[in-house]
Amino acid sequence: MYSKIVILNFPQEVAQKALVCQLTKKYDLLFNILSARISNKKEGYMVLEISSGTKAAFNKGVKFLKDQGVSVSGPEHQIYKDEEICTHCGACTAVCQTEALYIKRPEMEVMFDKERCSVCELCVVTCPARAMGLFSAEAQEVVA
Ligand code: SF4
Ligand code: SF4
Repeated sequence: MYSKIVILNFPQEVAQKALVCQLTKKYDLLFNILSARISNKKEGYMVLEISSGTKAAFNKGVKFLKDQGVSVSGPEHQIYKDEEICTHCGACTAVCQTEALYIKRPEMEVMFDKERCSVCELCVVTCPARAMGLFSAEAQEVVA
């Protein structure tokens, strides 16, 4: 299974169209909406995890979105968890909407699944130990 997180920006003209649903109907792709909002200018923003049987099918679906005027990009930054600093207090799991941070039981350890992370950065500002940080995917360096 090929799976990737993408960031979609919908211009006002197409923000109300159900384009994402077409990914399933036309290209047999599965998607999971990690985050979505509409600005006061009626432009849309969505973080989507798209899964497909092949990379070729994924690329066709992305081409479809781009042909409709949707901007498609990958996350510019990634989140990292410093295991040496983390005290497993659990505070970050309360703010993580995608369950990328979760408590493993019965060990009661806080785990980080970066594949589920939407890079909302809520955990970065929540962590009292500053174990969560922001990493530039392009420059391969810590930025916060
Ligand atoms: S809030 Fe920070 S210290 Fe607490 S479990 Fe999460 S990453 Fe670890
Ligand atoms: S940035 Fe932190 S809070 Fe947001 S989805 Fe990723 S792990 Fe969860």
